Amino acid sequence: MHDYDLVIVGGGITGSSLAYLASRYLDVKRILLLEKYGSIASLNSNALNNSQTLHFGDIETNYNVEHARKTKRAAERIVRYAHSELGSRNRIVQQCQKMVLAVGEEEIEVLSERLSRDMHRLFPGLREIGKKEISKLEPNVVKGRHPDEMISALLADTGYMVNYGALSDSFAEKARKQRNVKVDILLNSKVESVRRNDDGYTIYAGDKAYSASFAVFAAGTYSLYFAKMLGYDRNLSIISVGGNFYETPRLLKGKVYRVQIEGIPFAAVHGDPEITNPKINRFGPTVSVVPELERRHPETWLDYVRTFDFDEPTIVSLKNILLSKTIREILAKNIVYDLPLIGKRQFLKNEAGRIVPGLRNADLKLAKEYGGVRPQIIDEDKRFWILGGAKLKFANIIFNITPSPGASSCLESGLEDLLYISKSTGAHFYREKFEKELGPVDASA
Ligand SMILES: Cc1cc2nc3c(=O)[nH]c(=O)nc-3n(C[C@H](O)[C@H](O)[C@H](O)COP(=O)(O)OP(=O)(O)OC[C@H]3O[C@@H](n4cnc5c(N)ncnc54)[C@H](O)[C@@H]3O)c2cc1C
Repeated sequence: MHDYDLVIVGGGITGSSLAYLASRYLDVKRILLLEKYGSIASLNSNALNNSQTLHFGDIETNYNVEHARKTKRAAERIVRYAHSELGSRNRIVQQCQKMVLAVGEEEIEVLSERLSRDMHRLFPGLREIGKKEISKLEPNVVKGRHPDEMISALLADTGYMVNYGALSDSFAEKARKQRNVKVDILLNSKVESVRRNDDGYTIYAGDKAYSASFAVFAAGTYSLYFAKMLGYDRNLSIISVGGNFYETPRLLKGKVYRVQIEGIPFAAVHGDPEITNPKINRFGPTVSVVPELERRHPETWLDYVRTFDFDEPTIVSLKNILLSKTIREILAKNIVYDLPLIGKRQFLKNEAGRIVPGLRNADLKLAKEYGGVRPQIIDEDKRFWILGGAKLKFANIIFNITPSPGASSCLESGLEDLLYISKSTGAHFYREKFEKELGPVDASA
C-alpha cells in the first residue's frame, strides 16, 4: 500500500487548486502536497509576480473564437469558486473595469474585426468605444494625447483582478478542511528526485521518501526537469522569459491592455491596478530571456542548463524563432529596457506612454521585487515554440508546465488532471457535484 493516493509537487496555483479539486471531487483518501519554499505560491503565482488578470479571451486580440471559448469557460470556474467559497465581498477575486486599447488606424481595424459575429455571440457585452467614452472611463488615456492620434477600445462588461497568491492559499486551506480525506501540506520540502515503481512512484524530499499511486508535478519550470529525470522527454525545452513591472501612482481606474502582436505568446505591455495596493498602477511585463528556472534565484541556472536540450532540433527551433523579425524587434526593444539610465525612458516612450501619454519619467519606478518567469516551451518536433502550456501525461503521472496566462485556467487544468487520474486509477470523480459547483464538464471529456 502506498503512503498516498496522490502526491502533488509544487504549491503554486496549479498544485494548490489540484489539491482542492482532488480533495473535494475525487474519491481519494490521502493527498500530499510538497512545496519547496516556506509558503504557498512564493513564485509565479504570488500576487507581485504576475499581472493579476483573470483572462476571459475577450480582450486578448490574438485569441480566436475557439481559444476564447475555452479561456472563458476556465475563467468562469474561478468566478464560481469565488462566489461560493470566498463570498462576494472577498478581496481575492475583485471585479474591475477592463479594456483593450488600439492606437492608430491599423490597430483600430484589428479591434473592429475582432467583433465578428461569433465573438459577439460569445461576449455579448463586449463593445467598441471611441475617444469620448474612453476619456470618461479612463481620463488619463486621453489626456495629453496628440489630438490627431486616433484611438479606440474594446470595453468588456466584466473584468476581474485576482490575487493568485491568496487564491492559492485559499485552495490549500480548503483542501485541508475537506471531510473524509487526509490532506497533508508540507512546506520547506524540496523534492530532489522521483523513482518509478511497479505500481506508482516514490518521491524523495530531503531525507524523506513518499510513495504514491499517482503523482502530479505542478512545479512550474521544474516540472520538465523532473520529466527529463524520469526519461519522459518528449523533445521539449524551456526558454525562461522573465517579466519586469514598473510602478506609478494610480493613474488608471481599471486594466488597459494593448492590441496583441500575432504569434507572440506573451501579452503586450499593459497597465493594471495593483490588487494589494490601490494607490498604485503597474505597467508591464517586459520580456527578457533569463538563464534561470526561477526568477531571482540565480542558483537555478544549472538546472536550467540540465533542462535544456542542446541538440540540433533545439538549435534549429531557436534559429526559427529568431528568424522572425517581430520577435527580434521585441527582444531588442526589451534589452534596451533593462539598461540603466536610458531603459526607463525608452519604456516610457514605447510602452507606458502609449497608454498614458501624460505619464512623467519621475512617476515611473522599476518595481525590482516584482515579476516572474514565463516558461516558453520549445517543441523540437515543431521546430518552434508552442503557444500555451504543456501537460505531459504518462502512466500514473502528470507533468504540468504552465506559462502565462496559466493562473486563469488553473481549475480547468485541474479538472483535466482529475479526469485522467480517475481514468488511470479508477478513483470515482464526483461529476455531478463538480458541475453544480464549478460549471459543466466538456461532453468530450
Ligand atoms: C510576468 C507574468 C505575468 C503573468 N500574468 C498573468 C495573468 O495576468 N493572469 C494569469 O492567469 N497568469 C499570468 N501569468 C502566468 C501565471 O503566473 C502562471 O501561469 C502560474 O502562476 C503558474 O502557476 P504554477 O503553480 O504552475 O507555477 P508556480 O507559481 O511557479 O509554482 C510552482 C511551485 O512549485 C514549487 N516547486 C518547484 N520545484 C519544486 C521542488 N523541487 N519541490 C517542491 N516544490 C517545488 C515552487 O516553489 C512553486 O511554489 C503571468 C506570469 C508572469 C511571469
